[in-house]
Amino acid sequence: MPSSPIPGAAPLAQLPPLSLYVHIPWCLRKCPYCDFNSHEKRGDLPEAQYVDALIADLDASIPRVWGRRLQTVFIGGGTPSLFAPASIDRLLVAIRTRLPIDPEAEITMEANPGTFEAERFRGFRDAGVNRLSVGVQSFSDARLAAIGRVHGADEARRALEHALETFPTVNADLMYALPGQSVEEAVADVREAIALGAPHVSAYHLTLEPDTHFHRFPPPLPDDDAAADMQVAIEETLAAAGHEHYETSAFARPGHRARHNLNYWTFGDYLGIGAGAHGKISFRDRIVRESRVRKPLGYMNAAAQGDALAESRDVAPRERPFEFMLNALRLTEGFPVALFGERTGLPITVIERELAAVEKAGLLERDHLRMRPTARGQRFLNDLLEPFLPDASPPRATAAIRISRPDTPSHP
Ligand code: SF4
Repeated sequence: MPSSPIPGAAPLAQLPPLSLYVHIPWCLRKCPYCDFNSHEKRGDLPEAQYVDALIADLDASIPRVWGRRLQTVFIGGGTPSLFAPASIDRLLVAIRTRLPIDPEAEITMEANPGTFEAERFRGFRDAGVNRLSVGVQSFSDARLAAIGRVHGADEARRALEHALETFPTVNADLMYALPGQSVEEAVADVREAIALGAPHVSAYHLTLEPDTHFHRFPPPLPDDDAAADMQVAIEETLAAAGHEHYETSAFARPGHRARHNLNYWTFGDYLGIGAGAHGKISFRDRIVRESRVRKPLGYMNAAAQGDALAESRDVAPRERPFEFMLNALRLTEGFPVALFGERTGLPITVIERELAAVEKAGLLERDHLRMRPTARGQRFLNDLLEPFLPDASPPRATAAIRISRPDTPSHP
């Protein structure tokens, strides 16, 4: 089905909310399924030099977001909890002195079990972090070993307990469809996260991404039917515990939704600093996507010289409908129709033909105020998104749609 012709976009009447993503690119060990920009720690980390580079990167970026207020900050990776609380404190002080920040801003940091202790968590909290996202993945020693994690189940439990004692809100990252995993085991992981008290759970399907060890040497994974059964069972278990399924992989008790991620999913803006970090910044008359130098050493050198950008390009009007839909249709409740125009500068009528097609296919429902994916559209998200791909994006096929983890916009 050919796409509707896309006219030029109108200037944006108002700029979207602004978030800041900070990438810290080191981990204790590289996990065999991971295609993120993360690098195994060898020897001491150049923490001070890296924080200097982040601050220099921020300084060079400020003219592009001048006068705008940060709504959320997300320090991701990699494993940011490898950094000392004093380094995170220096970073957050530098951010606060350079950009206005909402007094109620959500400030999230990622942590992996086995990289910290309770005292370290308190240090992050005292630096201003108010939400911790813990990379639990599973509470089974056997499954953790099968996916090459450095930590065991007890460390995961302790990390989550310490996080819940220390921070006002916490996310537990889980993965399912792990090598050798049964539906019962996948559900047991979710039950344990609920029992420990995690108010937000992210449950990701393990996928074999190109350029990973698992892609070259695939482990025996549950088949598609078993994985689909796990997904349904996980959703039912979380729903029964009062966790609303508000996005493809995200579940939260009331008041605990991830505001930073919600800004991505509503096509908000984010400045991305750090090695390989991606950003999206709107101006009245254009929308720009940019990325930073990817290798940590190259990034630090480039940032020190005042320009860590590797790429900056305008998002053409014809690309905007797909980019918007790729994010907004992840949301179970969908989006207000007016938001499409506010964020893209295009009237919703430019995609009327595509909307009618996915509605007819039972993938989308809408009225004059709101549109949302149906249960079928949530299940077959690629089919729902495919008609919105711009004509010239080769190949025009479902396989071309890559749905990245929401907490990690720097890993598209
Ligand atoms: S999955 Fe997480 S902990 Fe493992 S290498 Fe990737 S970023 Fe690091």
